[in-house]
Formats: sequence, structure tokens, C-alpha cells
Amino acid sequence: MTISSVVSRRKLFGTLACGCVAATGLGSSPARAASPVTKTSLSAEEALAKLKAGNAAFVAGGACTPAGGPVPISTLSAGQAPFAVVLGCSDSRTPPEHVFTTGLGELFIIRVAGNTADVTAIGSIEYAVAVLGAPLVVVMGHSQCGAVEAAGDVASSGAQFPGFIGDMVQPIVPAVLRARKAGHMELADAIRANVAEVARHITTASEVVAQAIGANKVRVVGSVYDLASGKVDFLA
Ligand SMILES: [Zn+2]
Repeated sequence: MTISSVVSRRKLFGTLACGCVAATGLGSSPARAASPVTKTSLSAEEALAKLKAGNAAFVAGGACTPAGGPVPISTLSAGQAPFAVVLGCSDSRTPPEHVFTTGLGELFIIRVAGNTADVTAIGSIEYAVAVLGAPLVVVMGHSQCGAVEAAGDVASSGAQFPGFIGDMVQPIVPAVLRARKAGHMELADAIRANVAEVARHITTASEVVAQAIGANKVRVVGSVYDLASGKVDFLA
């Protein structure tokens, strides 16, 4: 079964109202074939190199303008062709567009505290990979992550939090426990373990992503952003 057939069978994207589907070129309808937007031509390795270069520029100067200069907003209305997906934390200090010195239309971003991958996040990743043609998925944790720290408190002492916060951090707890069982007790260890677990979960839970990996169309890579230096450390 191909990725396209999986997408078609599930009719995941046919009714989305964001206007992106018509611009993807996926499928055989004349309207889609006439898409004015071409998917990125970058390979996963080239996309990763672009992110690393963008992060180096960010670290060097805190630049927020992409290397290619600002993109006229009106040109973006035809569709989107992001070269990477980033699943990051909601922490206000970790905006991927800034961290990687990218502009509008370049990154497809999902952000949730603790950079976990629930059904909504995985569905969003599948859309970016299978429909928009993004060749790289980056799970980006960060130093001093409060969500992972909270999960550590749950693991250590059964800490409880108001509202849905406890439910939110619960998916992080198994990674924390595995790290500790292996003798890695620090918060930084838990953060890396959570990133690795989320990356693994995406590739095992999503048939769409697994198919894309098998077809050498996408890579899933873990990373950790350091709040103090601005540097992103890629785990693979
Ligand atoms: Zn965080």
C-alpha cells in the first residue's frame, strides 16, 4: 500500500478547509495537477543541513530574517511547500522559525508543551509528509523544559497538577522512568529520552510516516534546543 493510497483511503484531507489540498499536486484530479506550488526539492539530508545552517546563523547573530530575505506575503496564498516539520514545545523561548532562521512557508510547525505526539500532532505530521511533501520531521525538545520537569515530579512523588496539566504531562512519564532505570537521572537526560521516545512513537504509530520512511521520502530526527546558547543539538 502506498502513502497516497493510505491518504486516499482514509480521506484524511479531502475536506480540509485550509485550501492547501488543491495546491499539493497529490492525486489525479485536474485541479490538483494544475497546482502552482511545487513541493520542496530538498532531500532529508539537505533539509537537515539547511536547518543546521539556519541555527548556526541564529546562534551567531540572533537573526530572525531568513537567508533568502523576506517573502512577499501575497506569493504564499497559492499554497505551501515546507521543507521540514518541527514538533516542538510551546515554551515561548523556543519558536522554530527563529531558532532555524526560517521564514513564512518554510516550516510546518506543531507545538505542544513537552513536544509530545498525540493523535492531532501525528495527523498534522502525516499531512505535512504525505500531502505537502516535507522530507524531514524534527522533534525538538529544549533544556529546562517545564513539562518534562513536571513529568519527573509525577514519576518521583506522584505530583498532581490542576486541570488537564497532569494528563498533558502523563505521556512523558514513561520516558522519564526508562531514563532513570538506565541510570540517567538528570532533567537533561529525561528531556533527551522524551525526544527519542516521541520520535520513535511517530514512526511506529503512523502508517503514513512509516510508509514514507520505507520509501526514503522522509527522515524523523530528534533534537534538543539549548536555551542558554541557542544551539540545537541533533540526536541523529
Ligand atoms: Zn518545554
